[in-house]
Amino acid sequence: MIHDVLQALRQRTHQILITTHWNPDGDAIGSALGWAHYLRASGHQVRVVLPNAPSKPIQSSPGYSSAFVTVAEERPDEAAEVFRRAELHFALDYNTPSRVGSALEPMVREFAGRQVLVDHHQQPDGLFVDAYSNTAKGSTSEMIADLITADDGWGNVDVACAENLLMGMITDTGSFRFPSTTAHTMATAARLIEVGAQPHAIHTRLFDANPLSRLHTFGHGLQSAELLAGGRAAILSLGSSDLESAGYVAGDSEGLVNWGLSVDGVEVSVLLREDAAGLVKMSFRSTGDRDVNEFARTHYSGGGHRNAAGGASSLGLAQLKEELTQKLSEWLA
Ligand code: 5GP
Ligand code: MN
Repeated sequence: MIHDVLQALRQRTHQILITTHWNPDGDAIGSALGWAHYLRASGHQVRVVLPNAPSKPIQSSPGYSSAFVTVAEERPDEAAEVFRRAELHFALDYNTPSRVGSALEPMVREFAGRQVLVDHHQQPDGLFVDAYSNTAKGSTSEMIADLITADDGWGNVDVACAENLLMGMITDTGSFRFPSTTAHTMATAARLIEVGAQPHAIHTRLFDANPLSRLHTFGHGLQSAELLAGGRAAILSLGSSDLESAGYVAGDSEGLVNWGLSVDGVEVSVLLREDAAGLVKMSFRSTGDRDVNEFARTHYSGGGHRNAAGGASSLGLAQLKEELTQKLSEWLA
């Protein structure tokens, strides 16, 4: 159990490896760097291995550019070496090794040391015997703060740690507006602010630093919105020609899918985005008890959370839209 892990950490210095998922978002980076800063302040040797680089705004998170962070896509040999040396691995903000991408997945699966999962996604993989998994939590970053509390370690939380954890909480709670936001979430955020994290600065860094291509991407996506299933679902799509004319760069469509839910009566919103290889990446969002995790798992070998999930399909955009119209209509009837 996680308490045994914390106790073991208190007894001696460990060589610790922290990983997070492919295309790391604010919570992935926030939890990974926040935990890294904390463990370093507690005397451990810590390395963070990221499958690939996050978006530009997240790259200015405190510690991102330091020597203890390796982006595996850029430095694969170094990443492999870190895996070989580590004795304890924290897997943060993902539930299964397939989420770290094809280069890192075998390294996670074959890791010889102790594997510890800290995550809020559903269906945690059995590979992780030591797990702090709680799907009711709004962010992995909040869970890291819980571990710090359990470790009686707030004295080791510096501004860099606090900034990262608060960034993760802000990202995954939709700036404290999703249903997963609790009194405990707010109390944790308050504690991080007391340490020196600045919510306004984080917000500006994350949300007011968009390239113009993001606005144009949103323009195409919003214009494409259609209602289906009697107005209970919205579907937005970005074809490769839309992306090209918007000058799309990775991350530009993040958050777009949420706009589908802003339409009166819509319970499920889907965004389809064509990638260069013709594969369509799907993002699902829902309200209340509508379980898009289940829908994405069943039909599109995807997953995520009850109200936010993803998947992919190799059907063409038009055909996929047709298929979805049918499946969503059946589901929501
Ligand atoms: P997004 O729509 O923002 O890409 O992802 C929403 C949620 O679904 C995230 O929590 C993410 O971890 C999860 N997710 C996205 N794509 C996939 C996927 O292909 N497989 C699984 N298992 N989860 C996904
Ligand atoms: Mn998360």
